[in-house]
Amino acid sequence: MTSPASIPMNDFARQWSDTSADVLAAVAQVGASGWYILGKQVATFEQALASFSGCSHAIGCANGLDAIEIGLRALGLQPGQRVLTTPLSAFATTLAIVRAGGVPVFVDTDASGLLDLDLVERELVRDPYLRFLVPVHLYGHTLALGRLQTLKERFGLKLVEDMAQAIGARSGLHSVGSVGDISATSFYPTKNLGALGDGGAVLTGDPALAEACQTLRDYGQSAKYVHSVLGLNSRLDELHAAILAGAFLPRLPAWTQRRCEIAERYRADIRHPLVTPLPVPAESGSVWHLFPTLVSGAGRVALAAHLKRHGIGSAVHYPHLIPAQPALAGSVFEIRGELVCAQRLADGELSLPIHPYLTDGEVAHVIATVNGWPGTGS
Ligand SMILES: *Cc1c(COP(=O)(O)O)cnc(C)c1O
Repeated sequence: MTSPASIPMNDFARQWSDTSADVLAAVAQVGASGWYILGKQVATFEQALASFSGCSHAIGCANGLDAIEIGLRALGLQPGQRVLTTPLSAFATTLAIVRAGGVPVFVDTDASGLLDLDLVERELVRDPYLRFLVPVHLYGHTLALGRLQTLKERFGLKLVEDMAQAIGARSGLHSVGSVGDISATSFYPTKNLGALGDGGAVLTGDPALAEACQTLRDYGQSAKYVHSVLGLNSRLDELHAAILAGAFLPRLPAWTQRRCEIAERYRADIRHPLVTPLPVPAESGSVWHLFPTLVSGAGRVALAAHLKRHGIGSAVHYPHLIPAQPALAGSVFEIRGELVCAQRLADGELSLPIHPYLTDGEVAHVIATVNGWPGTGS
């Protein structure tokens, strides 16, 4: 078998050749309109995203980080209030909590890499001052949304779902983003629904929260030149809204289906004593943003190098736990219990390419290359 030249984690060249006609048409439309900020394109995209997600309101903003901060502020987070979250995520999840004035409280994940909801429940029982929760639907998997809903009701939680990696995912009867008071997503280019640059959105079913988010993203402006709160400049551009609505959102279902097919093949055919696909949370209707594996021993670096020699990209999600990041050294945060599972993943996780433009031959090449890895000592 001839090896494909290169299999990157994301293939933006192929994405461009597939989508460029639609992208350029969207750009031409915005250019000709002469309206570049908060106009018809943003409104149209917000409606399309809301109906795709099954939430009544979507509010475009500048990025996923801001979407989480806006969500927490709209929910009334006060400086110093504690916010329960995961130690294993993009740093942005915690950064948003800190920027909104919250104190992050970390509990461990389970073996899937997502928050351990038993530990979440234990902390909520113990600590009546802990009532904000920012869970992350990591890797494109969903936390058990029925259970999240029950926890939310039982403890009166204020819940912001970080769904930046899981747009379109489901769990049981629930769509991701439908259980939180607010959900936050990102259109960073590598996400399942990525833009050609930065973008993000807040989703909610509550009209009052939607209005609060609209105000916060636009300098806290509640009516023209009336600033009712100290907001952000965090708007989604007309250009990006038009590109997302015209070129990318319509392709998302097919892209997701392709990711799921590739995941099925990896799960069926990767057979290596040292490489184990991470378990998927129960009931997760995943959208496979990433394909995470756990490489045992100290084999991760060796496997990544072996893949690279065969033209295959890989990446680590994430090599450092958030509470160990130097940026947090000057911030107040708490760790409840040991972060054993999260640390095991920080030490041994390796993600394989799973972007929707992979061919069947390339998927077979990835599988054969992993299975043919001689292992650490060799
Ligand atoms: C990408 C990501 C973010 C941040 O999104 P940006 O648009 O890059 O600010 C937040 N949380 C998670 C889980 C992410 O993957």
